Amino acid sequence: MIATLPKSKVSHKNGNGRPRKTYKKEKVKWVYLFEEGAGRMRDLLGGKGANLAEMTALGLPVPPGFIVTTQACNAYLNAGGFPTGVWEQELSALKQIEKQTGKKFGDPKNPLLVSCRSGAKFSMPGMMDTVLNIGLNDEVAVGLIALTLDARFVYDAYRRLVQMFGSVVMGVADEPFEVVLEHYRNERGVTNDANLTSKDLHAITQEFKAIVKAKTGHAFPSDPLEQLKLATEAVFKSWNGKRAIDYRNAAKIPHDLGTAVNIVTMVFGNMGNDSGTGVVTTRNVSTGEKEIEGDYLTNAQGEDVVAGSRTTKPIAALKEEMPKVYAQFEKICKKLEKHYREVQDVEFTIERGQLWMLQTRDAKRTAQAAIRIAVDLAEEKFISKAEAVQRVKPEHVDYFLHPQFDPQDKQATKDRGGWIATGLNVSPGAASGVLAFDADLAEKWGKGEKRAVIMVRPETKPDDVHGMLAAQGILTSKGGRTSHAALVARQFGKPAVVGVAAMEVEVEKRLFTVGGRVFKEGEVVSLDGTTGEVFAGELKTVIPDFNDPYLIKLLKWADAIRELGVWANADYPRDAQRARQYGAEGIGLCRTEHMFFETERLPFVQQMILAKTAEERDAALARLLPFQREDFIGLFKAMDGLPVTIRLIDPPLHEFLPSHDELLKSVTELDTRLTDLKDRILAVRDRVASQKRMLAATEEMRQPAGQEVKLPSREDQLKSIAEHENRLQDYETSVVKLGVALAQQQKMLSAVQSMREANPMLGLRGVRLGIHLPGLTNMQVRAIFEAACLCAKAGVEVHPKIMIPLTAHDNELKVEQGWLEKVAKQVMAEQAIEIDYQFGTMIEIPRAALTADEIAEYAQFFSFGTNDLTQTTFGISRDDAESGFLLEYIEKGILPENPFASIDEKGVGKLMEMGVKLGRQTRPNLEVGVCGEHGGDPKSIAFCHTVGLNYVSCSPFRIPIARLAAAHAALK
Ligand code: PEP
Ligand code: MG
Repeated sequence: MIATLPKSKVSHKNGNGRPRKTYKKEKVKWVYLFEEGAGRMRDLLGGKGANLAEMTALGLPVPPGFIVTTQACNAYLNAGGFPTGVWEQELSALKQIEKQTGKKFGDPKNPLLVSCRSGAKFSMPGMMDTVLNIGLNDEVAVGLIALTLDARFVYDAYRRLVQMFGSVVMGVADEPFEVVLEHYRNERGVTNDANLTSKDLHAITQEFKAIVKAKTGHAFPSDPLEQLKLATEAVFKSWNGKRAIDYRNAAKIPHDLGTAVNIVTMVFGNMGNDSGTGVVTTRNVSTGEKEIEGDYLTNAQGEDVVAGSRTTKPIAALKEEMPKVYAQFEKICKKLEKHYREVQDVEFTIERGQLWMLQTRDAKRTAQAAIRIAVDLAEEKFISKAEAVQRVKPEHVDYFLHPQFDPQDKQATKDRGGWIATGLNVSPGAASGVLAFDADLAEKWGKGEKRAVIMVRPETKPDDVHGMLAAQGILTSKGGRTSHAALVARQFGKPAVVGVAAMEVEVEKRLFTVGGRVFKEGEVVSLDGTTGEVFAGELKTVIPDFNDPYLIKLLKWADAIRELGVWANADYPRDAQRARQYGAEGIGLCRTEHMFFETERLPFVQQMILAKTAEERDAALARLLPFQREDFIGLFKAMDGLPVTIRLIDPPLHEFLPSHDELLKSVTELDTRLTDLKDRILAVRDRVASQKRMLAATEEMRQPAGQEVKLPSREDQLKSIAEHENRLQDYETSVVKLGVALAQQQKMLSAVQSMREANPMLGLRGVRLGIHLPGLTNMQVRAIFEAACLCAKAGVEVHPKIMIPLTAHDNELKVEQGWLEKVAKQVMAEQAIEIDYQFGTMIEIPRAALTADEIAEYAQFFSFGTNDLTQTTFGISRDDAESGFLLEYIEKGILPENPFASIDEKGVGKLMEMGVKLGRQTRPNLEVGVCGEHGGDPKSIAFCHTVGLNYVSCSPFRIPIARLAAAHAALK
């Protein structure tokens, strides 16, 4: 667009007195005929308009039409009315369409009818408004009946116009219209509007007009031009409707794009049984299979299919019903796929046997389908392998790593009669939760109370999106694969089952029934979006099988592209095996301390920590050595041939001991109980003594025979004394036990107190601990080398890399590494075998990054510990930040995102860049990786690629995502 020049530039004199060139005001082009547009003009024409123009250029049967630009929409919204020229250009475009169709807008003798549809740059399904059949009024209707000889069709179209216009333009709610329709359907005993007669529809049109008048105080406008103008305005305004804004917020679509308005010649799918309308995707977007997939309806208009109000037919049925049309349609689908090099989602209408294309756009798809389609399109040579890799997003791969229902539990649930029904599997994944029957409640429970919710509705509408977003899964009784519920669910990766015909949803009663069974709001159900099944109760979930052949192929292509290595953070052999299965090329971090926490080992770890003498400590370490050796043997075997980076102990010792506060509490409690017991013992002792005195006195009184006084029996007295003596014994045993426990706890407490640090995360940990307790790291290195030597002798290829954590100064490495190298050499000599090994360090303190050239004098490799590096660079503790102020910082825009999730490139990233550069200054081939959690984050992976890291290391479950993200980084 050429903008109107500011007035100041239009005309004034230049320095030499001659008038400057006068610019004429350029006319803004607000309206484009389909012939004037192109697919690349999405910004200006919106996605729908640009594609209609593109299809027109491809020679496909598109009804003539024009597009009012997104710029016109923005100008309208800014000005609060039509900017100069918009309406005039619409009128002249209308003239062109009249020419092309040979019909005339508003002329009863040969009327042109048009639709008015929204269409933003990015698809926002159903979020904005559409009005069909514009141009009808009482006279035009009569004229059209004379032309078509089909009064039923004409009044069907007319009542739809009044309803749509009434609700979209004049703001009348849908319900009163539905009530009228329902009344007529009941009256005629039909379930389908298509079975109402022309008379009914005529009467319905009149009633609809009366509703509009009653509800708004204004009559439905009979002037076609007024209809068109008001409809255009309504579409403009719908850009700022609540549901459109909510959708854009959720889909991260900017709010300043505006929507285009598409004015398209009406073609009618409701002209009898040789007419119809449908929405399909050129491949199956749930599974990716190469087959046209979707639904259509005969004798219906566009909205009927997506609205889900009538049960649709699968597109395959069209092949039987209208073979010629189907063949033409199939060809068009192929042509579109080839042209766009992408699976399309198309809308079509058949008017008395003539096929019309009303829309095409790239189809939304499930993760499974996205991967299969990308691979297939590459193999069909529509796109390159690199493009296929680029088209698959990390979240698509993520799907395969997410829980699905456990097949055994599913079978068991079925056997118990827990299967409820099966509907359409429109968005895969497993979801369990409580039933909520409306969007507000779903949002309240899901977002507000953090409960897992399944939102259930007969069908969903754009107004329901907030509830759908807050729910774990979506369930509807109506609608097809292209229904609103299905589209939104796929877009946001929510498991969904729709069109469960067996289910009757009664929203007012907050329940649904299936085959006589009733399920009420708040009850738990489970949805399998992958199969379409619905179950009662909550099912167990499992991680899906990673063996999807398309995923495996795509990741192999990614491997050939990426430059970054992908390693795993794994502590146990089972994690290492999984990592390897997922494609890990090494272990980048084994946190050895995790092994110390196991129940059979912890007592020895504590013994080691609490030891008073070197002998005591050595004895405890000697008990730990075999455990560690076995751990490492398992890792080396699992990673046979690949590097295994083992980090020496890192956390502060107090982490292996009970918490100070709990110990203090328990010591106080034990002490109180002991004092109490001791008091009781004294009391019982007194009691026994007095009972014994009583017994002696009673015995004396018993002596003179025949005395009349009543005395307690001797048995009773002896029994009571015995009971008290027993009690005394129990108490005394308890006192001894409690005393021992108390002494132990007191000992532990004083040990913990002596080790207490004000800021343990910055205290005696990492390399500092290794230097402080050399026996511990010596034991670890001995275990590593004994394991490596044993494995090597057994034919396993081992490459241990010993990693020293939290280094800040090169002298730390100089000292610790010096000792440890000696241990390594000693073990290799004992075992009489040489191992390929390296000593390296983590870079997780800013000083280490700043002096990386000095550090690299000793370290043979670096691995960025970005968790600690982020903490130490920001000077914030992660635990405190994430549970406290970090969210506030993000909400207030102080930090753009959580730096513990994605590398803070400007700060932490700068240190990394510096670390790599300085390190390689000293050691040009220095291998550098990252093993903080950022190693599995696609954005951080791209950064690691940019700064020249050799590999990223992440949790086994992130490996496939990291492989893909690394390829994306290399393709940028
Ligand atoms: C790190 O700090 O990034 C790291 C991997 O070590 P840890 O998370 O164990 O402190
Ligand atoms: Mg760390």
